[in-house]
Amino acid sequence: MSAKVIDGKAVSERVREGVRQEVDHWVAAGNPAPGLATVLVGDDPASEVYVRNKRKACEAARMRSIHHELAADTGQDEVAALIEKLNADAEVTGILLQLPVPPQIDGDEMTALIDPLKDVDGLTPINAGLLSQGREALVACTPSGVMELLREAGVELKGAEAVVVGRSKLVGKPVVQLLLAEDATVTTAHSRTRDLAEVCRRADVLVAAVGVPRLVNADMVKPGAVVIDVGINRVEEGLVGDVDFHGVKEKAAAITPVPGGVGPMTIAMLLANTMKAARLQAAIR
Ligand code: NAP
Repeated sequence: MSAKVIDGKAVSERVREGVRQEVDHWVAAGNPAPGLATVLVGDDPASEVYVRNKRKACEAARMRSIHHELAADTGQDEVAALIEKLNADAEVTGILLQLPVPPQIDGDEMTALIDPLKDVDGLTPINAGLLSQGREALVACTPSGVMELLREAGVELKGAEAVVVGRSKLVGKPVVQLLLAEDATVTTAHSRTRDLAEVCRRADVLVAAVGVPRLVNADMVKPGAVVIDVGINRVEEGLVGDVDFHGVKEKAAAITPVPGGVGPMTIAMLLANTMKAARLQAAIR
């Protein structure tokens, strides 16, 4: 059996088109176009590419992109002052502080300053807490993208055994919360998990968010499982995920490729979050 390959690029394009239409209706109804403020500190080449792509996607969705670039040696007070200014600016709907930040800046502390209603990355303690309580929140983009792919692939989550490998704030933990909210029975595995293969073999739905190239191999996958690979690892041959795609494809029912799986979903969900933030802010005005 060869798995169905879940096409994240196609799903992300549908999400982006949906957001673009929503923005058109929103503006036609007399509202200002949502504005996404990106803050880039330093000149990390990968971060520069990510931010450029986010800004382009924002403009393609007919939202406004407001960009701030700060030098690598910028002090924490200056970053904090900029975030406070963006919090107070009615033209700014969403604020994205591109991580990682240079070492003199505490990324967690700066993220926590973002107004939770403008926290389109879903990383503030308020939004993470709301998510863990199963309440309305702005949810981190990559985890939302994982859920959108599972929905599009028609995967039944109620009562399913789900295993999430990885427990980061950015990916693993929010994915766990989202799967729980869909009534899956969720196990979280991490670097101290004893017998990772045995734990993974329980999974009807297996999500790998680890950062170790091809860690999850066919021996760790139950026949017929759905496998979502969040990993993006640069190796000699190019980009690979945390899953051994070719081996696992022969055993799973469905699988996401890398690239072209979860990756494109992150920006799409960022746009969806920015539109959602505009609605949340309008509702309390
Ligand atoms: P992270 O913060 O480094 O967390 C990695 C997690 O994996 C940790 O919980 C760690 O366990 C666990 N882990 C590490 N080695 C392991 C092992 N051998 N066995 C089992 N668990 C292990 O990484 P992240 O930010 O969550 O990102 C994970 C991957 O997703 C990376 O490849 C990253 O590039 C990718 N990513 C992709 C997107 C996207 O848009 N597609 C977005 C974000 C991240 P401990 O907690 O015990 O240390």
